[in-house]
Amino acid sequence: MGIKPVAGLGSEAYAWLREGGLVVTASDRAARALRSAFYRARQAEGLAAWPAPRILDWQSFARAEWTARSLDGRLLLNRTQEQALWVEIAAGDPRPATVLPGPRNRLAAMAMEAHELLASYAPRLLRTAARAGWQQDAAAFSGWLSAFDATCRDRQLVSESRLPLELVPLLKADSTERAPILLAGFDRILPVQREMFDAWGSWRQAAPGEPAPDIEFYQAADAQAELTACALWCRRKLAADPRAHLLIVTQDAGTRRGEMERALLRHAGSGGNLSPGAAPIFEFSLGVPLSRIPLARGAYLLLKGFTASIEEHELDWLLSTSQAAANARESAALQATMRALRRRGMERPAWSISDFIAEGALTRQLPAAWVERMRDAKRRLDNHAARQQSPLDWAALIPQLLQAAAWPGERPLASAEFQAIRRWDQAMDACGSLGFSGRRMGWKDFLAALGRALDETLFAPETRDAPIQIAGPAESAGLTADAIWFLGAHEDAWPPRGSAHPLLPIEVQREADLPHATPQLDWELARSITARLLASAGEIHFSFARQSAGVEARPSRLAVEVAGMPQPLPPELAARETARPIAVAVEDDTRIPFAAAAASIGGGAGVLTAQSQCPFKAFATARLGAENWEPAQVGLTPRQRGQLLHDALHAVWGGPPDGLRSHSELDMLKDRDSFVAGHVRSAMQKMPPGLRQRMPCRYLDLEARRLTKLVSEWLAFEATRHAFTVVDTELATAVPIEGLTLHLRLDRVDRLNDETLLVIDYKTGNVSPRDWDLPRPEDVQLPLYASLALDASQHVMSGLVFAKVRPGDLCFAGRVGDAQGTLLASLSGGSSLVKYPLGAEHVVDWRKAIEQLARDFVTGRAEVDPRDPPKTCERCGLQTICRIGGVADDDSEESVSQESAREEGGDE
Ligand code: SF4
Repeated sequence: MGIKPVAGLGSEAYAWLREGGLVVTASDRAARALRSAFYRARQAEGLAAWPAPRILDWQSFARAEWTARSLDGRLLLNRTQEQALWVEIAAGDPRPATVLPGPRNRLAAMAMEAHELLASYAPRLLRTAARAGWQQDAAAFSGWLSAFDATCRDRQLVSESRLPLELVPLLKADSTERAPILLAGFDRILPVQREMFDAWGSWRQAAPGEPAPDIEFYQAADAQAELTACALWCRRKLAADPRAHLLIVTQDAGTRRGEMERALLRHAGSGGNLSPGAAPIFEFSLGVPLSRIPLARGAYLLLKGFTASIEEHELDWLLSTSQAAANARESAALQATMRALRRRGMERPAWSISDFIAEGALTRQLPAAWVERMRDAKRRLDNHAARQQSPLDWAALIPQLLQAAAWPGERPLASAEFQAIRRWDQAMDACGSLGFSGRRMGWKDFLAALGRALDETLFAPETRDAPIQIAGPAESAGLTADAIWFLGAHEDAWPPRGSAHPLLPIEVQREADLPHATPQLDWELARSITARLLASAGEIHFSFARQSAGVEARPSRLAVEVAGMPQPLPPELAARETARPIAVAVEDDTRIPFAAAAASIGGGAGVLTAQSQCPFKAFATARLGAENWEPAQVGLTPRQRGQLLHDALHAVWGGPPDGLRSHSELDMLKDRDSFVAGHVRSAMQKMPPGLRQRMPCRYLDLEARRLTKLVSEWLAFEATRHAFTVVDTELATAVPIEGLTLHLRLDRVDRLNDETLLVIDYKTGNVSPRDWDLPRPEDVQLPLYASLALDASQHVMSGLVFAKVRPGDLCFAGRVGDAQGTLLASLSGGSSLVKYPLGAEHVVDWRKAIEQLARDFVTGRAEVDPRDPPKTCERCGLQTICRIGGVADDDSEESVSQESAREEGGDE
């Protein structure tokens, strides 16, 4: 019967497997791809059932054969166990680099890798005597390797890296006839592999397919255009043949994963398969660390939080993703608790679950059932936490703790989540196996080992045979397709530039042809991968971006060698011919008037300031209640420092019995420093208790001294003013405007020597009166007060100023009618206070502009329109709600497609 060509399966491998032959692949990934291609081919033949193909990846093959033949009872170490052994050996080394756990673990991982390289490329150097002349770091590693060998001998252990070497004599001693092997997906066969296969008997490599007849090399303007072209190419290929299998090869799948996902979803055509449960159109063959999968991350943070602190953003993540809650209601209550804590100023940089329960109790919003479950889980852990016990016991305890905490909640899990839980169980089992040498450990060490295992365990959901597969060049070994697109083929990336291993002597690496030992070796390996790719599909496209990170890039010489000089992208793959984006920017002119207009509204002048900065910001904050939280810091945040300064100055100028009220009282003050220190002390007493308690006393003391010095310097500056009287501080006033009632609180109002009023706003940041400039003021607080709050029949206001109270920068900035005559005699004619006095027309113009802002707010004007992008957005914090990033993308997309439509006379 003729063999139908199937993407992913050469006719030789198919015939071999059909006859029941054994195929060994270079990697597990290649084995899975081959298996899936075989199934497709059998189905294409009209079969409903067939014997399972004999496909094994190289490592499983070696493991299975060694286990079957080795009868000496030694334990085959898994990776977690072997790494723990290297860590143990590194810990015995007195060098400073191995003292701290982090560097020690990293060095142990490097040593394990160096051992693997020696076992694969230069096994003769595994003998201690052969490494006699090694110097410095290499000598240190050599000592560790000898210790590793001795430990393995003593404890009857064997490293997986040694299996091929161990198998050679075992196979030679066994004369039983063995089935021939076909090797698939090997870019190069290492000497140790060759020796082992020779000892096995009959074997051969699958013959490479014919090189692709259709090879192209494109250059794109930048990385985005390159990615878009690739995605559009996928779309066209799948439109022409929905059953096609495409392979995207890229070295950046790890770092540009999100970008690639967006480009493929947008341009490659979702075909409606964005709906939950629909088959995906693409899959990454390389997984992501399990520690980044929400279920695993949630479980780990929960376990960690029982006995130690997790960072505030981690707790936020835990609460907001429902990973710690049984159901949506509980999750909402937990998030509300966190919000309530922040509103009380009780944020902190790190939290344990117990801290959160204790502080959260004050808000009365914590769900009682959740508290009970967390306490129960913690109690169970506390029964063991002080013990040193077998890792197996810890691994057995963890499911009980998570169950007590109701992880992963009541919601039904998707298939990928079940798979993630299975992988989590495997990572935990691997950590449980750390007791292989009778080792006992504490909870903290076990948790650290689990954290490392989650970082090192890659997770990719089982393949659903998506039509587009994405893989790195090396990981693509064994994968074949109808067509391939190779992204990023520029001179610096292909061949890739790696560095030699730091723990092995460079001459040894060169002699044994270790990866990256010489540029020539990298070139040869890249050339063989390129040749393999050319034979893996009927069509292959290379591409590169001329601009990469702002630097001009040149095409890969290797790609030029096989595909000729790069050509511009064909018009059909250029970005302007994009498919309609998934998200389309629309002019939204619908408005929802503010129903509660007659009522007073919180936020004071901030509402109209926000309306001026960006109408959507005002809508989101004043009407939807959105808030931007400042992350807690170990010390005081700039906002908390600013509040302390306001409180201290309010107390200083608060009038009798303890404060001052005028310039003359300031002049008469005998001991200004102790006067200020007393007010600073009382301001610090008013800090939220939670905040004060978590700051070390010494730190608060230093902060009080800093503030005392700053306020004293400010008073010294104020002493140089013309005579004045403080009319009020923290003046609360309600301003009706266009049906809104805004509640303002002014820092201070002074009466000047000409009986006019000066409005003062204390600032610790860098502000300027330009913030009041029309048509869109950055800040409307003082202009609003000047134009709408003062009763002009009773008061004459002659100025608005920011009092800039900053170390080394003490001054007034603003608009004053006669600054030299009423504020500071020392001002020069060039001072902006003198050059730009306050005029009646300013007040009139401000009034008109502010009333318009209020009308816009009340009528529901809420478009995303930042005043000064990207600066306004950087300080806003609402990007996740307004999706300004997505809007910007879509805008550019839209303008491109409109341009394209114009050029083509189209009608998009
Ligand atoms: S992030 Fe920018 S666009 Fe979004 S609401 Fe804030 S200011 Fe407006």
